[in-house]
Amino acid sequence: MNVFKFGGASVKDEAAVRNLAKIAGNTPDEKLIVVISAMGKTTNALERLTDAFFYGHENTEVILKEIRDYHVGITEKLFPDSKHPIHTDLHNCLVELDWAIEDPPTHSYDCEYDQIVSVGEILSTKIVAAFLQENGVKCVWKDVRDFVKTDNTYREGKVDWELTRERIEEELLPCFSTFNMVVTQGFLGVTSENFTTTLGREGSDYTAAILAYCTNANSLTIWKDVPGVLNADPKWFDDTRLIPQMTYQDAIELTYYGATVIHPKTIKPLQNKNIPLYVKSFLHPEKEGTKIHDVQSP
Ligand code: ASP
Ligand code: MG
Repeated sequence: MNVFKFGGASVKDEAAVRNLAKIAGNTPDEKLIVVISAMGKTTNALERLTDAFFYGHENTEVILKEIRDYHVGITEKLFPDSKHPIHTDLHNCLVELDWAIEDPPTHSYDCEYDQIVSVGEILSTKIVAAFLQENGVKCVWKDVRDFVKTDNTYREGKVDWELTRERIEEELLPCFSTFNMVVTQGFLGVTSENFTTTLGREGSDYTAAILAYCTNANSLTIWKDVPGVLNADPKWFDDTRLIPQMTYQDAIELTYYGATVIHPKTIKPLQNKNIPLYVKSFLHPEKEGTKIHDVQSP
């Protein structure tokens, strides 16, 4: 088992989704879990939608339309056949978003936030899974809320590891008797009362680490728009160098000091099971990138 994680930039438009399909579809892995974030800046747009819904400063219709047009636009390019079932599927997800903001808020801001913002990952994974299937990949779409169980700390859900591990065994692993690949959402979890939670902004890396940990995966690869972990942020420095390998401890310190390559919670679960983490460029998948592992071990 291997786990791939693709962030928002790797699904931001038609070309990006095609590129992802090439990378994921071409791996020789027999069993691959693909964790995907919301497309492009969708999470930010959904945050604005939540604010508009909760506080009424902005018009929800305008933001909804922006989100709808963006997803429909990408989907129409990927699936020119207007009869393809993805179009109805997408429409139904977007209608659910309409419903989520139809009546005035009844829960806390954070709870409403999670119910609304989570739709971004549902949309992206539906589109990508359908596209992979269309291209002959034997994959299945799974709702990560069937197995990532959290408490009710909305926007920062704390994972119930024992229950999550059990659910993964019951719900996720059996998929591999029929499929080679499972496509699922990053960032999302669910409470015991079936309310959606999120794991904190940029939390998809963490989801990928949770799934890698609970399935005893051989490796986790995080696909990014940078060549790997660099010695400095290219936003501020011209002369940056790729770090080919580093220890888990170095990686933890790096994220602690504010480097934004990897979500800080990602490393620990991997370190506990000695699962190597690769950070690679989705623009140059043939390049090595960075390997984060226990450098001492063989
Ligand atoms: N889509 C979520 C966010 O933008 C989660 C993630 O990208 O990791 O924060
Ligand atoms: Mg994102």
